[in-house]
Amino acid sequence: MTDLSIPFNKPYMTGDELRYIQQAHRHGQLAGDGPFTRRCQQWLETHTGCSRALLTHSCTAALEMAALLLDLQPGDEVIMPSYTFVSTANAFVLRGAVPVFVDIREDTLNLDEELIEAAITDKTRAIAVVHYAGVACEMDAIMAIAERHGLYVIEDAAQGVMSAYRDKPLGSIGHLAAFSFHETKNVIAGEGGCLLINDARFVERAEILWEKGTDRSRFFRGEVDKYTWVDVGSSFLPGELIAAFLWAQLNHAEAITGRRLELWQRYHEAFALPEQQGRFRRPVIPAHCRHNAHMYYLLLEDGARRAEFIAAMKRHGIMCVFHYVPLHLAPAGQRLCRTAGRLPVTEQYADRLVRLPLWLGLEEKQDEVIRQLRAYWS
Ligand SMILES: *Cc1c(COP(=O)(O)O)cnc(C)c1O
Repeated sequence: MTDLSIPFNKPYMTGDELRYIQQAHRHGQLAGDGPFTRRCQQWLETHTGCSRALLTHSCTAALEMAALLLDLQPGDEVIMPSYTFVSTANAFVLRGAVPVFVDIREDTLNLDEELIEAAITDKTRAIAVVHYAGVACEMDAIMAIAERHGLYVIEDAAQGVMSAYRDKPLGSIGHLAAFSFHETKNVIAGEGGCLLINDARFVERAEILWEKGTDRSRFFRGEVDKYTWVDVGSSFLPGELIAAFLWAQLNHAEAITGRRLELWQRYHEAFALPEQQGRFRRPVIPAHCRHNAHMYYLLLEDGARRAEFIAAMKRHGIMCVFHYVPLHLAPAGQRLCRTAGRLPVTEQYADRLVRLPLWLGLEEKQDEVIRQLRAYWS
């Protein structure tokens, strides 16, 4: 069998999307900041407890807003993992800041909080954490370090919608946070994202940056009698059709997460024995982290084994993929960033990690993935 019958990802539609898009169409406002945008933002505020949520075109755009809000100067440093998507670094590089990479933990593949303090210099301004696979970083320790050193914490919670750390929703803990609604994430809008503001001091300026540097939001609340250009800014907000699509998804966010967790758990149980036999390592979820089943991955013995495994599964029509090439090994990373110490876990685990198909609708085909995977290892 050579046809690709089990893709790695397949966007899930709830069935309500077109109805809401039609409503937006009928309503007649297609530009952003309309009724659907406000509904989505309110939902996000209620479900995370943040002071303010602002929809954006992407998580990338939300991270760029966060970097603007910090007023970074050229040469300022932001501590972050190298094992992440380019946008975590790019948002700060665009401001002339320098990402400083530290290594990740072996259990969750998240920023190793014990390495942060050694990476702090007098130029450090912020810590950007990434909740890999929707599993929380050690936020208590990280927030305490930030407080001790007067740093901001930005959560790249692109993968963390509906996850929690000690019962606190991801995205609600750092000073600022960003969600992604890209079609490869759990809750989607095609392309989309959200800036979450937890430190209320940022709210007013965030609204201004979001509205192209104008005080339009204050004008619509009747706080000023005309609106004008008051600061830097850009067009960060999506149109109402995107917000209408997202509204359908947010309303099903709990059900989507529940179904993903079932698929995740099914893999996890099926692979307990091969893990015991030393074939690979399964993901680790610390007891105080409630995850959202964004991803199921395995850690194989090395990169050569991974290439062979991906090729073998592909021959059976099952698409498995590797994940990040560490940023410090990429050409732009070498030019624009710096590392604090060596990053052995990042380098080894990035080579060993393989992601398995996980999407709503896989239910009927998951047995086939499990069967082929067991056959490969037997
Ligand atoms: C997906 C992702 C992004 C980018 O999200 P977009 O919405 O596509 O901009 C950023 N960071 C991480 C960790 C991601 O997984």
